[in-house]
Amino acid sequence: MNTLTGCLVLLLIFALLVYAWPLLLVLAVIAIIYQIYAALYFKSEKFNTIKEKIQAHIHDCNDLNDHIENLKSTALVVNRADYGEAVYHDNSRWNVKRDALKKQVYAPYIYECSRTVCDNARKEPFKYICKYFGIKADEETLGKFEAALNDFSAAEDGKVALKAERTAILESISSDIPWAIKKFSQKKLEKNLGFEEVDFSTLYFPKYEFKYTSAGGNTGTTYDVVMDIDNLNRFVIYLSEKIKFSKTVAGQRALMTSKLRQHIKERDHFTCKYCGASTEAEPHLLLEIDHIVPVSKGGLTTEENLQTLCWRCNRSKSNKTTNVQVST
Ligand SMILES: [Zn+2]
Repeated sequence: MNTLTGCLVLLLIFALLVYAWPLLLVLAVIAIIYQIYAALYFKSEKFNTIKEKIQAHIHDCNDLNDHIENLKSTALVVNRADYGEAVYHDNSRWNVKRDALKKQVYAPYIYECSRTVCDNARKEPFKYICKYFGIKADEETLGKFEAALNDFSAAEDGKVALKAERTAILESISSDIPWAIKKFSQKKLEKNLGFEEVDFSTLYFPKYEFKYTSAGGNTGTTYDVVMDIDNLNRFVIYLSEKIKFSKTVAGQRALMTSKLRQHIKERDHFTCKYCGASTEAEPHLLLEIDHIVPVSKGGLTTEENLQTLCWRCNRSKSNKTTNVQVST
């Protein structure tokens, strides 16, 4: 920027301050008046009547939200030994900041490795995850990954259902809510109606991380394998191909993949086997796949042992099971 442009910009800012301040003041006053109006509106009788009318639906949405958060917290398999934690001190004479070395901590999902391992993990992620995170290709492990896939799929479906349900509820009262509130206070409106905040991000998918840090701590690479729905589906198939199933299981077991989940829902006509709720009556209903005899009690992933349940029934069934590892 040359001096002339600099001067012109300064002049412009000066002119704005001198001539535009009445306009800025008017805007500020309007904003304050609006805030007072909005605060009074959310306390008004009229708003409370609307809120009362849809309270049951909002409770249901919030319950679904809790349920989704529970589904998200499913842990993946890691069998790495915990070798404890040590504190890092940098005693270098030159006081070089080597943050990368400082940050090296024990974390079950992070594997600090050589550059070669990091590069190889990039080429064959599943193979290296098994090798370096101690994941054994056996029936038990497969069951855990299938359970995770089932839970995470339900969580993803649940988010779609929840979003649609919230929109439907808000639309049903839309004509009763003043235009300005909808336009400028959407977030506040949802909060005042009693909607809990929903996390629609996909950041909850666990990731296995291969991390290389150079000896000096100045360079490094990381390679993440995010276990999202797609990768979990592929990993379940990968594991099953590695497993030598026991005789009783061989041949009769299906894999709990997204494809099978969809198949079971179609077979059951998108209807809950317990309460009869269906997506026909409730378009945004979250349906889940349940093992009739839980895996923990020896139930197999076979079509006969799988059924469609709505999230409410599946949740109460899970709550009755004392096991922490729920039926799925
Ligand atoms: Zn049901």
